[in-house]
Amino acid sequence: MNDLETILAHAGCTGLSPAGDLVDPIQLSTTFQRGIDGSYPAEYSYTRSGNPTRSSLEDILARLEGGHSAGAFASGMAAAAAVFATLPAHSHVVIPDDVYHGVRHLLAEFGTRWGLSYSSADMTSEESILAALTADTKLVWVETPSNPQLQITDLETVGRICRQRGVTWAVDGTWTTPLIQRPLEFGANYVVHSLTKYLSGHSDVLGGAVVSAGADDAERIRSYQTSAGAVLDPFSCWLTMRGLRTLAVRLERQCESAAAIASHLSSHPRVVDVLHPSLVTHVGHQTAKLQMRLYGAMISILVDGGAARALEIVSTTRVFQRATSLGGTESLIEHRRSIEGPASVTPDNLIRMSIGLESSRDLIADLDAALST
Ligand SMILES: *Cc1c(COP(=O)(O)O)cnc(C)c1O
Repeated sequence: MNDLETILAHAGCTGLSPAGDLVDPIQLSTTFQRGIDGSYPAEYSYTRSGNPTRSSLEDILARLEGGHSAGAFASGMAAAAAVFATLPAHSHVVIPDDVYHGVRHLLAEFGTRWGLSYSSADMTSEESILAALTADTKLVWVETPSNPQLQITDLETVGRICRQRGVTWAVDGTWTTPLIQRPLEFGANYVVHSLTKYLSGHSDVLGGAVVSAGADDAERIRSYQTSAGAVLDPFSCWLTMRGLRTLAVRLERQCESAAAIASHLSSHPRVVDVLHPSLVTHVGHQTAKLQMRLYGAMISILVDGGAARALEIVSTTRVFQRATSLGGTESLIEHRRSIEGPASVTPDNLIRMSIGLESSRDLIADLDAALST
């Protein structure tokens, strides 16, 4: 059993290529030769149901999370949709009230057509979670830190509730990666990732994954993946593995800069609140300290004013790029509410930042200049 850093450093380098390539080649073939008896000698038949480059990525993701196996999908949302679509008919789902807006939209617009119902809960409160559960609840969806308000959910509490009630739970691990938080160790049934973010890490791959703890769940997800067909293509799998090889150093540096920036902004006169779990003043700090190895590289701030003031600030940064998404080498800044659509519950004066690999001094100077406008 290797440390995660060692698994990551060797991602996509199995040494199994017949030519002896150090880095595995990308296997683009959509179909595979059958034996004269009709069998499939290498177990692969058709790339929608399985592909060697994809298997290689899926194996690494399962090992990183300590799961039974993983399925790689065409996007983080395709991965999330696989978890919802494989629930029993007429299931009820509990989601956080602060949740990635795409998940809320998927359930509101389409979950209801499949016969899924859902309610949202304040995941920082045990009473609120318990109150949201119904006799039909089959899944609790967790995001911690949440997007974009960085609320911390106690994984141990959710694990206990779900075990007692016999309810499956899934954690969206996009913001943390297995280097920071490993939800399966708390008893979660699934970890879902947007590979688009830290795992691929360079803002040039769209992908997702579901890692299942148990064999039965894994088999259902695998069957759905083949059947619905939103699989990750081999080139994106290969690029994701290239990204994984540097994840540990990227993420550690990004988290270190994020903590420095959060600390700097917390005494800034034009910032009303800084939402980052590294700060001892953050309401979730103690829980975060227990369940996270680092505090993450996403920061939200509440500025002194409304939407207009927030939009003015994000329009003046020069090092921070104005764009949505996160987890790349370049720092991004955005006014969050205006991208989330009409169902958004995000405060109007919230600015979300993804901290990249630039010098933290340059990032701080950029924010100071923008905030002083
Ligand atoms: C980006 C994101 C997703 C969706 O992933 P895509 O790859 O864009 O489909 C889901 N959850 C979180 C927390 C995200 O940041």
